[in-house]
Amino acid sequence: MKVIDRLTQAAEEKKTLFSFELLPPVRGKSIQSLFDAIDPLMEFNPAFVDVTYHREEYIYRELPNGLFEKSVQRHRPGTVAVCAAIMHKYNVDTVPHIICGGFSKEETENILIELNFLGIENILALRGDAAKGEAAFTPHPDGYGYASDLVEHITSMNNGEFKYGENTGFKTGFSVGVAGYPEKHMDASNLDTDIKYLKQKVELGADYIVTQMFFDNQKYFDFVDRCRAAGITVPIIPGIKPLTTKKQLTLLPNIFKLDFPQELIKEAEKCKDNKEIKKLGIEWGIQQSKELIEYGVPGMHFYSMGRSTSVKDIAEAIF
Ligand code: FAD
Repeated sequence: MKVIDRLTQAAEEKKTLFSFELLPPVRGKSIQSLFDAIDPLMEFNPAFVDVTYHREEYIYRELPNGLFEKSVQRHRPGTVAVCAAIMHKYNVDTVPHIICGGFSKEETENILIELNFLGIENILALRGDAAKGEAAFTPHPDGYGYASDLVEHITSMNNGEFKYGENTGFKTGFSVGVAGYPEKHMDASNLDTDIKYLKQKVELGADYIVTQMFFDNQKYFDFVDRCRAAGITVPIIPGIKPLTTKKQLTLLPNIFKLDFPQELIKEAEKCKDNKEIKKLGIEWGIQQSKELIEYGVPGMHFYSMGRSTSVKDIAEAIF
């Protein structure tokens, strides 16, 4: 079922959807670790499960002559197959993330065709970040530079217009989600500009928005107000990441350019070890989730990062 149809149904029934996000296994590892992460969460009846996409990384190896050899490797391959495997094993809808970075337009169209043949009806369309080892995002020479271009491509296919090969009247039927940033995307000069481009993604065919993680609900409430004022009417699903390690206190703001609320920092400073941080992360996640549900969010999307225990504890308290 399409995510947008689930969202519409849930809104009619005044329900909040539960969903979570997983990473494909690291190259060389079994898919069993993913199943182990999903198993405890199935009792909460997830509306859909997202699987992230990971672009190639540039690896620089020093040679005996002092020069560097550059090689390219995809560290977490298999998103399409992981989605299909989860769908078959659990009979749950999966949402593969599709990124622009590292792919030509034709390769992207090929992946979309594969997804359609597998019966996967949902996509989260993203630009992707710079490849590890590269300073800034650079599009593939024959690829897309913005998620909006990708959304436009998917919409064309939904209208029966494939960019490559012959058009026979066959149409895909993807529901498309896109990313939104309550604390602004790191490349955007300000939130208004970022929201202007978010609106463009919606106008080109996105059905719903999933936000970047945030730890202060007020940031989400303000973001939704500003999106609505800008004329964005689609559902905006909050993305929640339970804090699990002390390291994340510096890592997450650095990577995602977000702020932790002072109250959370103060509480985290009192924690002796990661066990206590994890407990705090669960308590904070429950508090955040309860307030968001009370506000009337369409769904709660959890960044599980392959570890389901915190998400399970939060889901147990709120659903
Ligand atoms: P875009 O919407 O293209 O925006 C990127 C930047 O360009 C923004 O600053 C925007 O304001 C600006 N912009 C947009 N359109 C234009 C335009 N036409 N002209 C000028 N500027 C413009 N990354 C992965 O690699 N794999 C994943 O699986 C993945 N999953 C994610 C899931 C979620 C829910 C979120 C929030 C992020 C995810 N990311 C993932 C990270 C994401 O790829 C990065 O944040 C990336 O830097 C931006 O992606 P985007 O789709 O928001 O880009």
